[in-house]
Amino acid sequence: MQFDSFTARECPDPRTTAPHILPLYATSSYVFDDINEGIEIFKNIESGHVYSRYANPTVDAVAQKIADLETWGLDWKATPVMTSSGMSAIATLLLGVLKTGDKVLSQANLYGGTTELLKAVFGQIGIETVFIDLKDLKAVESAMKADPSIRMLYCETPANPTLACVDIEALAQLAHQNGALCAIDNTFATPYLQQPFALGVDFVVHSTTKYLNGHGNSTAGIVLGKDHDVMRKQVWKAMKLVGTNCSPFEAWLTHNGLKTFSLRMERHCSNALKIAQFLEAHPAVERVNYPGLASHPDHALASRQMKNGYGAMLSFELKGGYEAGIQAMNRFKMCTLAPTLGDVDTLVLHPASSSHIAVPREVRLQNGITDGLIRLSVGIENPDDLIADLAQAIA
Ligand SMILES: *Cc1c(COP(=O)(O)O)cnc(C)c1O
Repeated sequence: MQFDSFTARECPDPRTTAPHILPLYATSSYVFDDINEGIEIFKNIESGHVYSRYANPTVDAVAQKIADLETWGLDWKATPVMTSSGMSAIATLLLGVLKTGDKVLSQANLYGGTTELLKAVFGQIGIETVFIDLKDLKAVESAMKADPSIRMLYCETPANPTLACVDIEALAQLAHQNGALCAIDNTFATPYLQQPFALGVDFVVHSTTKYLNGHGNSTAGIVLGKDHDVMRKQVWKAMKLVGTNCSPFEAWLTHNGLKTFSLRMERHCSNALKIAQFLEAHPAVERVNYPGLASHPDHALASRQMKNGYGAMLSFELKGGYEAGIQAMNRFKMCTLAPTLGDVDTLVLHPASSSHIAVPREVRLQNGITDGLIRLSVGIENPDDLIADLAQAIA
């Protein structure tokens, strides 16, 4: 045997040795049986894999699974394109469907990276974003009517870190009435809690890095779309040409995580509700932001558009302000200080001293990010242990 002739042809027959676990296709390209097969695949006459930047069987399997989750119970299935991260999913979607001169309408309290992407990268290539309060549907309508170049309404709900919600169905309707597309970042809620396609949106994006994977060991993202042609001819094309493809290993880790997705979400949500109730009754706590509490301003809206629970992201404000926030952060024993979310273990973040340290205090306060605000990504640990840790940290 030649030293350089190792190909899949040397693998045992996959039909007789079908693996139980999704195989990890660590290959950059694929072998054609003969030249005709190659021609037919290249011409798109026959389906088949060519090159892993275009498509990879491991990545495809995970993408299809997430599409099943996002359109579960609907009479159609979303077309997915998996990407290297949540950020590249958002960028790939916008590059695929917008052109210079088009505008995006969005909210101020987006994921920080998204705000920066819209301003710094897309702003620079002439795709500007108008930021308004998307809760104000009248303002949304007049903004869209006043500017026909707004081609996309991009939203996030519940949003970081006050868990403010926007009305997905109403926004999708307003977008469509005004000739725009509607996209949503469903990372916080996940399809277990919120199915934006059922409420009329055109695109859903995710950072699968968070709850869909759930174990904090991979970075990936996905764009899902209702219109198959737009997804293939525009979004998939942008992914393939810019090279925002997902690595098969990251997809494989995500697949592993998805096996316990519903179990994790159930526990995430019940833990979060218990913790929110504990914190709300605590004398050191000024306010708790959790859409599952009746005291949250968007509780009714969240109850209408979310199902199975209210998620596991929450934030709370300590009466002692900045100092109290810093002190609590240094006292946590079980909760981990980490600037991510959606993992099986509980993560804490003090935005004023970390993620929002560069944001001027007035701007921060305008967005509800007060000095003593602590954000929790509630994990799936024993809830009594978590409450004990919180109790000693904020005592
Ligand atoms: C983390 C996150 C992103 C970015 O995802 P990456 O996988 O880190 O690129 C986008 N949106 C939301 C809501 C997120 O939490």
